[in-house]
Amino acid sequence: MIHNYDDNCIFCKIIKGEIPSYTVYEDDDVKAFLDISQGTPGHTLVVPKTHVKDIFDYDADLAATVFAKIPLIARAVKASNPDIKGMNIVNNNGEVAYQSVFHSHIHIVPRYTSNDDFAMIFKDNSKNYDEAAYTKIQDAIKAQF
Ligand code: 5GP
Ligand code: ZN
Repeated sequence: MIHNYDDNCIFCKIIKGEIPSYTVYEDDDVKAFLDISQGTPGHTLVVPKTHVKDIFDYDADLAATVFAKIPLIARAVKASNPDIKGMNIVNNNGEVAYQSVFHSHIHIVPRYTSNDDFAMIFKDNSKNYDEAAYTKIQDAIKAQF
């Protein structure tokens, strides 16, 4: 695969080896390395080796290539520590969605207990929705394909 780099991108620098990383897996298409924050032990980032900003920037081939690697890497992280009981796999897109590095990446976050140092909240707002409200949103999305 031909890789496009962004000279100002910290993850491109990691991919090129200009900045060191604790790499756990690498092939022609992706690099997986420990997130410096280690939100939970084993917190790993998977990045495409070509610079794409966010999920909206992938073509179908790149998506197929990159996302196909996630189960392989997730299984390896899980197998690395018997205390890992589960795993959140998270991909932030846009500042409002907590993206802080604008080279797309997938977080693999091992979970040890339900009150370890990672949390994700899905509020249940269903009481605010009737059929018309759901249908309006459904139609707006369906119209984009
Ligand atoms: P985001 O907030 O964009 O979803 O995630 C970016 C992640 O990149 C953060 O969890 C942050 O800890 C991690 N990060 C930022 N800079 C570096 C770095 O130089 N090396 C590594 N290994 N991780 C980094
Ligand atoms: Zn980049």
